[in-house]
Amino acid sequence: MAENKKKGLTAKERKHFRELILKKREETMEQLDEKRLSFLDNSPGGNAQIDSNYAYHMADVGTDAQEREKAFMHYSREYKYLNHLNEALNRVDNDPEYGFCIECGARIPNERLEEVPHTRHCVDCKSKIK
Ligand SMILES: [Zn+2]
Repeated sequence: MAENKKKGLTAKERKHFRELILKKREETMEQLDEKRLSFLDNSPGGNAQIDSNYAYHMADVGTDAQEREKAFMHYSREYKYLNHLNEALNRVDNDPEYGFCIECGARIPNERLEEVPHTRHCVDCKSKIK
């Protein structure tokens, strides 16, 4: 019975965090766009010039590969974050458990949700997972 009495976020709070998630989502998408553009910029001049620049690129391939991998790591991390935000957006609308720790059931303080609105863990449980 006690479980059922768990009081979720108020409609006002949900609206607030919904907007927060949307804002973070937009920022992340912008960053993803920029990073994707920097991928594409790696071959200036486009396909037409690839043949004439081939030797040059081969000499440089070590650094290039490293840079690319680094960029890709950043990119995929941002991408994962975006997925979390999308999922949180769905939860903030539909899930009565939004804002509660999935481990211990504690209400996650608003200050924490303010920082990481997509979190599903309170600080205590999160530190245990790490
Ligand atoms: Zn917890």
